[in-house]
Amino acid sequence: MKLTILGCSGGIGAGLRTTAMLLDDDVLIDAGTGVGDLTQDEMARIDAVFLTHSHVDHICSLPLLADAVGGRRQAPVTIYALEATIDALRIHLFNNCLWPDFSVLPSVDAPYLRYQVVKPGVTVQIGKRRITPLPASHTVPTVGYWMDSGVASLVFTGDTGPCDALWEAVNAIDNLRYLIIETSFAEQDCHIAKASQHLCPSLLAGELARLRLPAEIFITHLKPHDSAATVAEIGRLLPDLPADRPLRMLSRRQVLAF
Ligand SMILES: [Zn+2]
Ligand SMILES: [Zn+2]
Repeated sequence: MKLTILGCSGGIGAGLRTTAMLLDDDVLIDAGTGVGDLTQDEMARIDAVFLTHSHVDHICSLPLLADAVGGRRQAPVTIYALEATIDALRIHLFNNCLWPDFSVLPSVDAPYLRYQVVKPGVTVQIGKRRITPLPASHTVPTVGYWMDSGVASLVFTGDTGPCDALWEAVNAIDNLRYLIIETSFAEQDCHIAKASQHLCPSLLAGELARLRLPAEIFITHLKPHDSAATVAEIGRLLPDLPADRPLRMLSRRQVLAF
Protein backbone atom coordinates (compact mmCIF):
# COMPACT_ATOMS: atom_id res chain seq x y z
CA MET A 1 0.00 0.00 0.00
CA LYS A 2 1.21 3.50 -0.60
CA LEU A 3 -0.15 6.85 0.47
CA THR A 4 0.66 9.83 -1.74
CA ILE A 5 0.25 13.20 -0.06
CA LEU A 6 -1.66 15.53 -2.39
CA GLY A 7 -2.21 18.23 0.20
CA CYS A 8 -1.29 18.67 3.87
CA SER A 9 -1.66 22.37 4.64
CA GLY A 10 -4.15 23.97 7.00
CA GLY A 11 -4.81 26.65 4.40
CA ILE A 12 -4.28 27.87 0.87
CA GLY A 13 -1.61 29.98 -0.81
CA ALA A 14 1.01 29.54 -3.52
CA GLY A 15 2.38 26.00 -3.34
CA LEU A 16 -0.03 24.99 -0.59
CA ARG A 17 -2.86 22.47 -0.84
CA THR A 18 -5.38 21.44 1.80
CA THR A 19 -5.77 17.90 3.04
CA ALA A 20 -6.02 15.15 0.43
CA MET A 21 -4.17 11.85 0.24
CA LEU A 22 -4.28 9.17 -2.43
CA LEU A 23 -4.17 5.58 -1.18
CA ASP A 24 -2.69 3.48 -4.01
CA ASP A 25 -4.44 4.90 -7.06
CA ASP A 26 -8.10 4.33 -6.30
CA VAL A 27 -8.90 5.58 -2.80
CA LEU A 28 -8.88 9.15 -1.61
CA ILE A 29 -8.53 10.14 2.03
CA ASP A 30 -10.17 13.57 2.27
CA ALA A 31 -10.80 15.78 -0.73
CA GLY A 32 -9.13 19.13 -0.10
CA THR A 33 -7.57 21.31 -2.77
CA GLY A 34 -4.73 18.79 -3.34
CA VAL A 35 -7.11 16.74 -5.51
CA GLY A 36 -6.90 19.44 -8.19
CA ASP A 37 -3.31 18.43 -9.04
CA LEU A 38 -4.43 15.00 -10.30
CA THR A 39 -4.94 14.44 -14.02
CA GLN A 40 -8.42 13.64 -15.30
CA ASP A 41 -7.32 10.01 -15.79
CA GLU A 42 -6.03 9.82 -12.22
CA MET A 43 -9.27 11.31 -10.91
CA ALA A 44 -11.36 8.87 -12.93
CA ARG A 45 -9.60 5.92 -11.23
CA ILE A 46 -10.81 6.99 -7.77
CA ASP A 47 -13.52 4.56 -6.66
CA ALA A 48 -13.80 5.59 -3.02
CA VAL A 49 -13.36 8.71 -0.91
CA PHE A 50 -13.01 8.43 2.87
CA LEU A 51 -13.82 11.72 4.58
CA THR A 52 -12.66 12.61 8.08
CA HIS A 53 -15.27 15.34 8.52
CA SER A 54 -17.35 17.98 6.80
CA HIS A 55 -15.09 21.04 7.04
CA VAL A 56 -14.52 22.74 3.71
CA ASP A 57 -10.73 22.31 3.63
CA HIS A 58 -11.32 18.53 3.58
CA ILE A 59 -14.24 18.26 1.14
CA CYS A 60 -13.98 21.23 -1.24
CA SER A 61 -12.79 19.19 -4.24
CA LEU A 62 -15.55 16.60 -3.92
CA PRO A 63 -18.22 18.40 -5.97
CA LEU A 64 -15.72 19.26 -8.71
CA LEU A 65 -14.33 15.72 -8.74
CA ALA A 66 -17.81 14.26 -9.23
CA ASP A 67 -18.49 16.70 -12.04
CA ALA A 68 -15.10 16.12 -13.70
CA VAL A 69 -15.16 12.33 -13.92
CA GLY A 70 -18.71 11.17 -13.19
CA GLY A 71 -19.58 10.88 -16.85
CA ARG A 72 -16.44 8.86 -17.64
CA ARG A 73 -16.94 6.21 -14.97
CA GLN A 74 -18.98 3.01 -15.12
CA ALA A 75 -19.83 3.08 -11.41
CA PRO A 76 -20.51 5.80 -8.83
CA VAL A 77 -17.73 7.02 -6.54
CA THR A 78 -18.47 5.83 -3.00
CA ILE A 79 -18.20 8.46 -0.27
CA TYR A 80 -17.40 6.82 3.08
CA ALA A 81 -18.06 9.10 6.04
CA LEU A 82 -19.83 9.43 9.38
CA GLU A 83 -23.59 9.76 9.10
CA ALA A 84 -23.36 13.37 10.34
CA THR A 85 -20.82 14.18 7.63
CA ILE A 86 -23.02 12.66 4.93
CA ASP A 87 -26.00 14.63 6.26
CA ALA A 88 -23.92 17.81 6.07
CA LEU A 89 -22.95 17.09 2.45
CA ARG A 90 -26.56 16.36 1.48
CA ILE A 91 -28.06 19.38 3.23
CA HIS A 92 -25.41 22.03 2.66
CA LEU A 93 -23.50 21.09 -0.51
CA PHE A 94 -25.13 18.58 -2.87
CA ASN A 95 -28.48 20.30 -2.36
CA ASN A 96 -29.21 21.46 -5.92
CA CYS A 97 -28.37 24.98 -4.78
CA LEU A 98 -24.62 25.03 -4.22
CA TRP A 99 -24.19 21.95 -6.45
CA PRO A 100 -26.35 19.27 -8.07
CA ASP A 101 -27.34 16.25 -5.98
CA PHE A 102 -25.07 13.75 -7.73
CA SER A 103 -26.37 10.91 -5.53
CA VAL A 104 -29.46 10.89 -7.79
CA LEU A 105 -28.02 12.52 -10.90
CA PRO A 106 -27.66 12.11 -13.81
CA SER A 107 -30.16 9.36 -12.93
CA VAL A 108 -31.33 7.55 -9.80
CA ASP A 109 -30.17 4.25 -11.31
CA ALA A 110 -26.72 5.48 -12.34
CA PRO A 111 -25.66 8.37 -10.11
CA TYR A 112 -22.15 9.83 -9.97
CA LEU A 113 -21.92 9.43 -6.16
CA ARG A 114 -23.16 7.06 -3.51
CA TYR A 115 -22.84 7.33 0.26
CA GLN A 116 -21.71 4.71 2.74
CA VAL A 117 -21.85 5.35 6.50
CA VAL A 118 -18.79 4.47 8.57
CA LYS A 119 -18.51 4.07 12.33
CA PRO A 120 -15.43 4.41 14.56
CA GLY A 121 -13.82 1.01 15.07
CA VAL A 122 -15.72 -0.67 12.23
CA THR A 123 -13.32 -1.71 9.45
CA VAL A 124 -14.04 -1.23 5.77
CA GLN A 125 -12.17 -3.76 3.65
CA ILE A 126 -11.27 -2.85 0.08
CA GLY A 127 -9.48 -5.78 -1.51
CA LYS A 128 -6.81 -6.69 1.04
CA ARG A 129 -6.70 -3.18 2.44
CA ARG A 130 -8.30 -2.53 5.79
CA ILE A 131 -9.44 1.01 6.56
CA THR A 132 -10.79 1.69 10.05
CA PRO A 133 -12.23 4.98 11.31
CA LEU A 134 -10.69 6.10 14.60
CA PRO A 135 -12.11 8.44 17.25
CA ALA A 136 -11.18 12.12 17.06
CA SER A 137 -12.26 15.20 18.98
CA HIS A 138 -13.15 18.19 16.82
CA THR A 139 -15.86 20.85 16.60
CA VAL A 140 -17.94 18.68 14.24
CA PRO A 141 -18.23 14.87 14.21
CA THR A 142 -14.83 13.67 12.96
CA VAL A 143 -12.81 10.50 12.56
CA GLY A 144 -9.19 9.70 11.83
CA TYR A 145 -8.28 6.68 9.72
CA TRP A 146 -6.17 3.60 10.40
CA MET A 147 -4.96 2.02 7.15
CA ASP A 148 -3.58 -1.52 7.45
CA SER A 149 -1.95 -3.29 4.50
CA GLY A 150 -1.56 -6.51 6.49
CA VAL A 151 2.18 -5.84 6.67
CA ALA A 152 2.16 -2.43 8.36
CA SER A 153 -0.20 0.35 9.36
CA LEU A 154 -0.51 4.09 8.96
CA VAL A 155 -2.70 6.25 11.20
CA PHE A 156 -3.95 9.67 10.12
CA THR A 157 -5.54 11.59 13.00
CA GLY A 158 -7.57 13.97 10.86
CA ASP A 159 -8.37 17.26 12.61
CA THR A 160 -8.41 16.71 16.34
CA GLY A 161 -7.73 18.22 19.70
CA PRO A 162 -6.61 16.05 22.61
CA CYS A 163 -8.49 12.74 22.44
CA ASP A 164 -8.24 9.88 24.97
CA ALA A 165 -10.11 7.39 22.80
CA LEU A 166 -7.74 7.95 19.88
CA TRP A 167 -4.68 6.83 21.85
CA GLU A 168 -6.48 3.85 23.29
CA ALA A 169 -7.15 2.71 19.72
CA VAL A 170 -3.71 3.62 18.32
CA ASN A 171 -1.80 1.90 21.13
CA ALA A 172 -3.62 -1.34 20.33
CA ILE A 173 -2.26 -1.47 16.75
CA ASP A 174 0.44 -4.14 16.55
CA ASN A 175 2.05 -3.13 13.24
CA LEU A 176 2.09 0.68 13.34
CA ARG A 177 4.71 2.23 11.05
CA TYR A 178 3.50 5.80 10.42
CA LEU A 179 1.52 8.34 12.43
CA ILE A 180 0.32 11.49 10.69
CA ILE A 181 -0.91 13.93 13.35
CA GLU A 182 -2.16 17.45 13.01
CA THR A 183 -0.70 20.57 14.60
CA SER A 184 -2.66 23.53 13.28
CA PHE A 185 -1.60 26.47 15.41
CA ALA A 186 1.49 28.05 16.96
CA GLU A 187 1.73 28.52 20.74
CA GLN A 188 0.53 32.12 20.61
CA ASP A 189 -2.75 30.80 19.18
CA CYS A 190 -3.06 27.91 21.63
CA HIS A 191 -6.34 29.39 22.89
CA ILE A 192 -7.67 29.19 19.33
CA ALA A 193 -6.42 25.61 19.02
CA LYS A 194 -8.33 24.73 22.18
CA ALA A 195 -11.49 26.58 21.11
CA SER A 196 -11.47 25.00 17.63
CA GLN A 197 -10.32 21.55 18.86
CA HIS A 198 -7.02 21.45 17.07
CA LEU A 199 -3.48 21.02 18.41
CA CYS A 200 -0.65 23.50 19.02
CA PRO A 201 2.92 22.35 19.80
CA SER A 202 2.41 22.02 23.57
CA LEU A 203 -0.82 20.08 23.05
CA LEU A 204 0.99 17.93 20.46
CA ALA A 205 3.69 17.14 23.03
CA GLY A 206 1.00 16.06 25.48
CA GLU A 207 -0.64 13.80 22.90
CA LEU A 208 2.62 12.21 21.70
CA ALA A 209 3.53 11.43 25.31
CA ARG A 210 0.57 9.06 25.22
CA LEU A 211 1.85 7.11 22.21
CA ARG A 212 3.38 3.92 23.54
CA LEU A 213 4.50 2.45 20.20
CA PRO A 214 7.44 3.13 17.90
CA ALA A 215 6.36 4.95 14.74
CA GLU A 216 7.59 7.52 12.24
CA ILE A 217 5.68 10.68 13.07
CA PHE A 218 4.65 13.29 10.52
CA ILE A 219 3.04 16.64 11.33
CA THR A 220 0.26 17.96 9.08
CA HIS A 221 -2.32 20.77 8.79
CA LEU A 222 -0.11 23.71 9.84
CA LYS A 223 -1.85 27.06 9.37
CA PRO A 224 0.24 28.87 6.73
CA HIS A 225 0.45 32.27 8.46
CA ASP A 226 2.39 30.83 11.41
CA SER A 227 3.88 27.62 10.03
CA ALA A 228 7.55 28.63 10.54
CA ALA A 229 6.93 29.52 14.20
CA THR A 230 4.96 26.30 14.70
CA VAL A 231 7.80 24.19 13.26
CA ALA A 232 10.36 25.97 15.47
CA GLU A 233 8.21 25.48 18.57
CA ILE A 234 7.72 21.79 17.83
CA GLY A 235 11.52 21.46 17.63
CA ARG A 236 11.89 23.24 20.95
CA LEU A 237 9.11 21.42 22.82
CA LEU A 238 9.86 17.94 21.47
CA PRO A 239 13.66 17.77 21.46
CA ASP A 240 14.10 14.35 22.96
CA LEU A 241 11.76 11.93 21.27
CA PRO A 242 13.06 8.35 21.37
CA ALA A 243 15.10 7.32 18.31
CA ASP A 244 12.33 4.92 17.27
CA ARG A 245 9.89 7.87 17.06
CA PRO A 246 11.44 10.31 14.59
CA LEU A 247 9.32 13.40 13.90
CA ARG A 248 9.17 15.33 10.63
CA MET A 249 6.84 17.68 8.81
CA LEU A 250 4.61 16.02 6.25
CA SER A 251 5.15 17.39 2.74
CA ARG A 252 3.16 17.50 -0.44
CA ARG A 253 4.05 14.81 -3.02
CA GLN A 254 5.58 12.68 -0.27
CA VAL A 255 4.86 8.95 -0.64
CA LEU A 256 4.62 6.66 2.37
CA ALA A 257 4.78 2.91 1.62
CA PHE A 258 3.62 0.35 4.13
ZN1 LIG B 1 -11.74 20.67 10.69
ZN1 LIG C 1 -8.93 20.97 8.50
